Amino acid sequence: MDDEYEPPWHSCPTDNCEHGSVDLAERPDVEGDGSPITGGSCDQCDTPAVQCSECENLIALLGWNPVSCDACGVTVYQLIPADKKGTEFSFHRVS
Ligand SMILES: [Zn+2]
Ligand SMILES: [Zn+2]
Repeated sequence: MDDEYEPPWHSCPTDNCEHGSVDLAERPDVEGDGSPITGGSCDQCDTPAVQCSECENLIALLGWNPVSCDACGVTVYQLIPADKKGTEFSFHRVS
């Protein structure tokens, strides 16, 4: 019997992080139309990542530039700083 809750495993998309798991949750796209974006941060390296709505590939968002999905190439996501220091952020789907 194992009653311990284990969050679903979402392997960290960054190359140099082998054991990280991204803690995914839906957040509204506050910069866009408010539709939910599934994303989170890696529990090992803190890299923010979003889950592509088209192919469910995890996309690492390093820095503030828009990043297109490297699996399907359809979606483009961007990290939006929510404060001046950039320690808080939200996710935005660019296209
Ligand atoms: Zn990681
Ligand atoms: Zn994709």
